Amino acid sequence: MNPITIATANPGKVAELRPIFANLGISVVGLGDLEAGTTEPEESGSTFEANATIKARSYAKQTGTWCLADDSGLVVDALNGAPGVISSHYSTDGAEDDRPRAERDAANNARLLRELADVPNEERSARFVCVMVLADPEGNVVATSQGAFAGRIGRGLQGEGGFGYDPLFLVAPRFNGTSAELSADEKNSISHRAEAARTMAEAIAALT
Ligand code: IMP
Repeated sequence: MNPITIATANPGKVAELRPIFANLGISVVGLGDLEAGTTEPEESGSTFEANATIKARSYAKQTGTWCLADDSGLVVDALNGAPGVISSHYSTDGAEDDRPRAERDAANNARLLRELADVPNEERSARFVCVMVLADPEGNVVATSQGAFAGRIGRGLQGEGGFGYDPLFLVAPRFNGTSAELSADEKNSISHRAEAARTMAEAIAALT
């Protein structure tokens, strides 16, 4: 199972996963580290698991390596699970657009605040969810893991760190600070992605 390709062009995500897999003697590479280019599949699934599966299978087959893909987003109870799989494009109802990430994030946050304007604090519960899928070089799914990070949606932006919905996400159980106010190390140790990665590492250890 060596190396595992991480289906992301984001070097930050690869760096976060590298030490977890190094403990298993497995090296990880990002799509940006590969010599041959790859084509991005369409994330047409209606669940995080479906989209992570599409990515893991596609990149495994394209690269001929074991491949780990993740999909993540924000789930808000008062909005019946929205923004969910369209978290990164919530302000456009899921339509892709080529605005810079910071502008997109600001528009998504503004929409979330609008949608929840009349919802009282105790009904603003939410969680970040991450699903990871591991596929073998033929594109067969071999393991799936999940992580969640619980909180509540605040009423205004708070904090400078993180990305996406972090400045609105009051961390459970105290709800007195957002995930944008955590250090990168703190967030990486308690996040949905960290939990999914740890569970995946356990699944891989059991397989090898
Ligand atoms: P992706 O899986 O990295 O594409 O993330 C999907 C979207 O979910 C992001 O664009 C954010 O809007 C949201 N999201 C996922 N994880 C986080 C997080 O840790 N903080 C804030 N927003 C997140």
